Amino acid sequence: MKADAGPDGMFVAGGTDLYPNMKRRHQEPKTVISLMGIPELRRLDGGNVGTCVTLTALSNFPTFQHSAIATAARLVSTPLLRNMGTLGGNLCLDTRCNYYNQSYEWRKSIDFCMKKDGHICWVAPSSPRCWAVSSSDIAPVMVAIGAEYRLAGLQGERLVPAGRFYQNDGINYLTKQPDEILLDVRLPAGNGWDAVYHKLRRRGSFDFPVLGVAAWIQWKRKEVAAARIVLGGVASYPQEVPEAAVALQGTSLSDESIAAAADAAYRPSKPMDNTDFDLSWRKQMTRVYVKRALAELRARH
Ligand SMILES: Cc1cc2nc3c(=O)[nH]c(=O)nc-3n(C[C@H](O)[C@H](O)[C@H](O)COP(=O)(O)OP(=O)(O)OC[C@H]3O[C@@H](n4cnc5c(N)ncnc54)[C@H](O)[C@@H]3O)c2cc1C
Ligand code: SF4
Repeated sequence: MKADAGPDGMFVAGGTDLYPNMKRRHQEPKTVISLMGIPELRRLDGGNVGTCVTLTALSNFPTFQHSAIATAARLVSTPLLRNMGTLGGNLCLDTRCNYYNQSYEWRKSIDFCMKKDGHICWVAPSSPRCWAVSSSDIAPVMVAIGAEYRLAGLQGERLVPAGRFYQNDGINYLTKQPDEILLDVRLPAGNGWDAVYHKLRRRGSFDFPVLGVAAWIQWKRKEVAAARIVLGGVASYPQEVPEAAVALQGTSLSDESIAAAADAAYRPSKPMDNTDFDLSWRKQMTRVYVKRALAELRARH
């Protein structure tokens, strides 16, 4: 069906991102192809999650109840949207910006912007690229835990590490081809690792993240054997901070190592002035949220 529809065709799952975007003419497909009738995509077992599983089902699934995945799913938007919205739609969520998530007329009044219908970036007018923000709650968790995504397209199937599915470009934010379907997500086996997700937003019951922190630790008894810290809401992709992981390796998550990791995450966290809240405050909150995430991991161990 996608091959028949060509570039004017788009996949839709729950439609909670695509349909509002179509109303504002961000995306203008002539054909929408629903994935929700494909039973294989709704499969949910411990290590393999179909992408048409709803966020509500994901957060209630017993194996995930206390996991970072379920926490992130539970923190998405409202119950109604979680009943419709799916994992796949969340992982492919369009990037967001105050100058873009507006009606057609509003955008027309500023002569549009580079991401759709225009030529300039209003956030960084001299910039050749778009800085719209990755606003998915679950994507940073998938990158942090080292999940893999299975894709199917006209060229066949492939498996991609979550971290390589995203790129730091507000327009071309996915490495996925338009004809590729995200089939399912393969989760790593639980062999001594733990992960948490913390989210900053204005209204606790509703809003997109303006900062998300996913933290993953591989424990070797009381020591950190490996770590990953991934920031959401501050770049056009879930941004991994390897320097923060280095600060934690070989430690027992002491106050000092947590502070060093939080400092390391603070430095490359560069939110732009295109979402809610003051950008310098959002940057400062990176340090606070990384500390809180790591303290939770320490307390759970
Ligand atoms: C008011 C409001 C608040 C929101 N708050 C949040 C929030 O706090 N956090 C958050 O993360 N999100 C939020 N969202 C966004 C959205 O509701 C969720 O991210 C949801 O999970 C999207 O899933 P969906 O199935 O509805 O996606 P859809 O709208 O169906 O699809 C989104 C995109 O993904 C593509 N797509 C979907 N599934 C696949 C697949 N299997 N393979 C290939 N491409 C696919 C579609 O083509 C489309 O481009 C909010 C939305 C609204 C309207
Ligand atoms: S970052 Fe710039 S180009 Fe991208 S959506 Fe915002 S204003 Fe448009």
